[in-house]
Amino acid sequence: MKENKTSKQKRKFYDSGEWKHMRDNYECKECKRQGRVSIDTNEYSESVKRKKIQLVVHHIKELEHHPELALDEDNLETVCVDCHNKEHGRDF
Ligand SMILES: [Zn+2]
Ligand SMILES: [Zn+2]
Repeated sequence: MKENKTSKQKRKFYDSGEWKHMRDNYECKECKRQGRVSIDTNEYSESVKRKKIQLVVHHIKELEHHPELALDEDNLETVCVDCHNKEHGRDF
């Protein structure tokens, strides 16, 4: 059961919280490329009333195919959920 093993690894990775240390400046890199700045304001949204976005870590090489690169900084990119969905071709 290769797939089960992979999703377990994935869960373990996201639960570990290790990747959170790698988020650079809490910005979406993809938005930045397009001249927008999206900052993860979840913690401060009450006071600053900024647009809430959620940042996720995107694996340039998919974890499913490259589980060994799960914590490889070169393979990580901080993006917001919107950009992440686009990155994966999901349309909501
Ligand atoms: Zn974005
Ligand atoms: Zn991704």
